[in-house]
Amino acid sequence: MTLIEYSSESQRIAVDEIIDQFTIDRDKLDEIVSHFIKEMRKGLNAPVKSIPNGTENGTYLALDLGGTNLRVCQITFWGSGKLAIKQEKYEISDSLKTGHHSQLFDFIADCIHQFLIHLGDVHDSTLSLGFTFSFPVDQTAIHKGALLRWTKGFSAAEAVGRDVVEMLHEALERKNVPVKVVAMVNDTVGTLLAHAYENPTTIMGVILGTGTNAAYVEKLDNIRKLNLNGSGDMIINMEWGAFDNERQVLRLTPYDEKLDQLSLNPGEQLFEKLISGDYLGKITHNVLLDLVGRNLLFSGRSSNKFDNIGAVRTPHMSIIEADATDDLAYAKQLLEVEFEIPETTLTDRQIVQRICCAVGLRAARLSACALCAIIKHLGVENQKSAVGIDGSLFEFHPGFKHNLKQTMREILGNNADNINLEQARDGSGVGAALAALYAEKDHADFSS
Ligand code: BGC
Ligand code: MG
Repeated sequence: MTLIEYSSESQRIAVDEIIDQFTIDRDKLDEIVSHFIKEMRKGLNAPVKSIPNGTENGTYLALDLGGTNLRVCQITFWGSGKLAIKQEKYEISDSLKTGHHSQLFDFIADCIHQFLIHLGDVHDSTLSLGFTFSFPVDQTAIHKGALLRWTKGFSAAEAVGRDVVEMLHEALERKNVPVKVVAMVNDTVGTLLAHAYENPTTIMGVILGTGTNAAYVEKLDNIRKLNLNGSGDMIINMEWGAFDNERQVLRLTPYDEKLDQLSLNPGEQLFEKLISGDYLGKITHNVLLDLVGRNLLFSGRSSNKFDNIGAVRTPHMSIIEADATDDLAYAKQLLEVEFEIPETTLTDRQIVQRICCAVGLRAARLSACALCAIIKHLGVENQKSAVGIDGSLFEFHPGFKHNLKQTMREILGNNADNINLEQARDGSGVGAALAALYAEKDHADFSS
């Protein structure tokens, strides 16, 4: 980044102070990793499943709820690590996310119905479906589990505590859709299963998108030590978005605090709020509004559009972070045309870019801590292994992958190069279908 010509000394000091608050140094990285390992050793508990090896075959429906869109898919496994997918996406409105759960699930049932009609596949016989439900669930069987809490802007009423599959079945019955939910998985578990179908060295499935979380394969030794029974591999859904809600090691800036206070779940999912796509834009927005309010940005002039809550979203940060033009032309276009800020100087735009980069960098460094904690816990630093990663942040956010890998090198040294961070291909769809396949073939062994 080029040197910024600040318009005043107080502006430079203010910006440097803010950047400082978002900076995670080497010592802090280690502290977070250690705390993460300590925390994760407390809570090993999850269903036992088989890990795919590419020989699976059959055709299944999959449903994906919990990111930005709702998706219905039909997936055919050819039994040679290859597969074919047909799918449709549907947008879920905010009113569905925050209304009554029956409206949300009725909408889902309607979408499944529509998909089957387009597929020309409405039979008399009932079709089997795997459901990727990307929220914290207390899962007691492959097709059974109660919603623990909503995340990522969902708050549909009278759903927490209820069995998720049951709520969907009720809606399918109301709408007369001939589909049976035979398996439910978290998206991280789906990603792990799907990636293992392609690459058997996969040890982890990670989501870095609207929300964030990971699932990994626990070692048999650890399972035995804990007296958990079950013969196969054990998949642990970390729910790492809730890591350190107690704030033992996480430090929140005033901008994070404001985001948390205005969220649907204050005090919850703090780690997720510092990392994932649903929140980074809002944190950045809070910083920029603060600087404007202190007359240190845009000559103190904002616009109605820019003042709107939620105006700045994470994809906007991507545009600004990726802007490599001399005069930050893309940032100018975004700020002046889309957000209607009357006029911006190059210094303004450079400051905005610096802030976006700092918020994005912190997210990548925190993600690296969580990833490395699991790798260290498993003791696989020396082993060539793959991590399947899905989500908009990992796939699209400029510099995110690079920063993640760099930070892993700081934590693990050269061993970081043994860990391949691989783009996972539709874990939420493929993984759910694989789980359905196992459930039908009775491979799933839930004995925990
Ligand atoms: C949810 C997880 C999910 C993650 C990624 C979080 O908000 O709690 O269950 O895996 O988002 O979608
Ligand atoms: Mg998803």
